Amino acid sequence: MFRKVKGFRDIFGVEANYWGLVEDIAKRAFRSFGFSEFKLPILERVEVFDRGIGSSTDIVEKEMFVFKDRNEEILALRPEGTASLVRAYIENNLNNPPGVKKYYYYGPMFRRERPQKGRFRQFYQLGVEVFGSTSPLTDADVINLLYSFFEKCDILEYLTLEINSVGCPVCRPSYRDKLVDYLGDKKELLCGDCQRRLHTNPLRILDCKVESCKSITSLAPLMIDNLCGECNEHFNDTKKYLDFMGIKYVVNPKIVRGLDYYVRTAFEMTTDVLGASSAVGAGGRYDGLVKTLGGPDVPGIGFAIGVDRLVDIMMQKDFGLKEQIDLFAVIFDKESLDNVLPVINKLRKDGFSVEFDYETSSIKSQMKKSDRLNARFAIFFGEDELKKGVVTIKNMKNSTQNEVEIEKIAEYLKAQTA
Ligand SMILES: [Zn+2]
Ligand SMILES: [Zn+2]
Repeated sequence: MFRKVKGFRDIFGVEANYWGLVEDIAKRAFRSFGFSEFKLPILERVEVFDRGIGSSTDIVEKEMFVFKDRNEEILALRPEGTASLVRAYIENNLNNPPGVKKYYYYGPMFRRERPQKGRFRQFYQLGVEVFGSTSPLTDADVINLLYSFFEKCDILEYLTLEINSVGCPVCRPSYRDKLVDYLGDKKELLCGDCQRRLHTNPLRILDCKVESCKSITSLAPLMIDNLCGECNEHFNDTKKYLDFMGIKYVVNPKIVRGLDYYVRTAFEMTTDVLGASSAVGAGGRYDGLVKTLGGPDVPGIGFAIGVDRLVDIMMQKDFGLKEQIDLFAVIFDKESLDNVLPVINKLRKDGFSVEFDYETSSIKSQMKKSDRLNARFAIFFGEDELKKGVVTIKNMKNSTQNEVEIEKIAEYLKAQTA
C-alpha cells in the first residue's frame, strides 16, 4: 500500500464541501470588487522567488521545494503567489496600456518546512494584487475586500483586522538606525535568531514570538511614530477611508515586513480560535517589487489568505454542511428506463442533484443506497404510476409521501424545500 508524502494531505467528504463553499464565496466577493482571475503556473524558475521574496528569507533559504530539472534548470514549486503574479504581469506586458489592474488567484503553494499540526507542505492560498495605484483609497479598498470576504464567510466574530504603516525608503532607514541603537545595548538579552536579525533584518525583531524578545521590544521606538510627512498622510487617509467604509480595525505598530520593497500599509487578519494567535490573511503595499523583478516602476498592493486555516475556522463554527443529494430515483423495472432516464436528465438540468442505482438491484437495496447518499427525497418510478404519468415522491426527513405528475416534479420539489 502506498502512503501520501509527509506533510501532504487528502481532502474529501464534508471537509471538501467547506473548501467548495470558500471558493464560491471568494469568486463572488473578488468579482464584486472588479478583480479578474489569474491562473498561474505552479512551477517557476527559482530566481523568481530569490528576487521576489529575497534570497536571505527563511522561505527561500530553507523552505522551498527546489530541484534540478533534466535540462539542468533549477526550478521551484511556488511558495506563494505574489512573486509569480508579478513575473506574469511583467512578462505579459500588462502595464500596457497603463492603468489600475486587479487580479486574484487561488491554488496550492508549497513549503518544505517541518510538518506540524495545522501546517502542511502543500497549502492553499487565495490572493489578490492591484497594480498601478499609490492612492490610499486603493489600500482602503483592498483591506475592505479582505474584510468583506471574511464577513461573507460569516466568521468575522473570530477575527481582528490589524493595520500598520511600515514607512518608506525616505523614513525607514533613520528609523532602522534608531531601533538598532535601542536594541544594541540589550543584545545579550535577545534570542539567537534576533541577535542575528540585529544585523540582517532588525525590524523582524519586533514580531519575534520569544517572551524575552517581546519584553525588550515593548518599549522600542516604533515606525508609526517616525513616519515621514507623506507616509503619515497616506496612513491617516487610509484609516479615514476605512472608517467611511464601516470597517473595524486596530492599529498594531508591531506588524513588520521583512523586505525593503514593502512600504506603507501592512495589514493582517488574525485569530486566536486555532490556539496561539495567528494570521488567516495578510497583505501590504509593495511599491518596489515590480521593478525589483525587472519590470517598470509600477506600485502594487495585495494580500493572501490561508485557506487551510480558514476552513479550520469554518468547520469549528460548523455551518452544518453535509454530504447530501436532492433526489434518489428508485427504479422498479429495467424495462421502464426509456421512460425514467429522460425524467432524471430533466431534473438534473433543472439543477437538482439526482442519483440512481446503476445495478437496478432490489427496491430494498436501492432504498439503502438512498439512505447512504443522504437523499432528501426518494422518487419511486413504479410501473402502474408511470402508465398514469405520475410518480410517488417521499420526503426522507418526515416520511410523508405524495403522488405527483411527472411534468410537475420540479415545481413540487421547489415548493417542498421553500
Ligand atoms: Zn516615509
Ligand atoms: Zn527573538
